[in-house]
Amino acid sequence: MRVLVIEDDPMIGRAVVAGLHDGGYTVDWVRDGADAELALANEVYDLALLDLGLPRRDGLEILKGLRRAGGALPVVIITARDAVADRVTGLDNGADDYLVKPFDLDELLARARAVIRRREGRPSPEMSYGALTIDPVKRVVTFRGARVDLSPREFAVLEALMKEPGAVVSREKLEDAVYGWGEEVGSNSIEVHLHHLRRKLKPQLIRNVRGVGYRIAQLQ
Ligand code: CA
Repeated sequence: MRVLVIEDDPMIGRAVVAGLHDGGYTVDWVRDGADAELALANEVYDLALLDLGLPRRDGLEILKGLRRAGGALPVVIITARDAVADRVTGLDNGADDYLVKPFDLDELLARARAVIRRREGRPSPEMSYGALTIDPVKRVVTFRGARVDLSPREFAVLEALMKEPGAVVSREKLEDAVYGWGEEVGSNSIEVHLHHLRRKLKPQLIRNVRGVGYRIAQLQ
């Protein structure tokens, strides 16, 4: 899961980014409204955390622009503006949820999960395909009934493949799911994660579609 954090306060931004990393998310952080619009136009995210008071463009304007363009990205507003009117305006303009600073990181993570789940139309967070089940909330993977321990990045690769079970996912998309901006991506690092996944699960579970990408096989 890839999250865009739009926050100009360095302390809050750092705390939120660290909390999201610990929660297993891939995170990009932008510090002003114009950079936020660029990121939203060029990258695919599962969630945006949006501060309202931002340099160069107000958070509410960013949200309005996103929704006007038909963007369905889940958005949680994080702001110090705690007036009821601001909350109502944010929700009326297409925010999915609202957190007033200061907030607890665990609450932020719980709301993020709930919002993503709602948008994906799945009341239960579990995803199953054949004998493979993953729970993105508890970060638990089971295969043929046995629990399998994965590193956060291995989990992120598997989660990206399980979002469209059976469909071919490009290597670039897998990299986007695993690495944030500025993170060093080794030339074969996705292959390394895939190698570990195949070893821990089952070699035939992840198929390489030559020149296109990878897909999960439905194994019983
Ligand atoms: Ca701010």
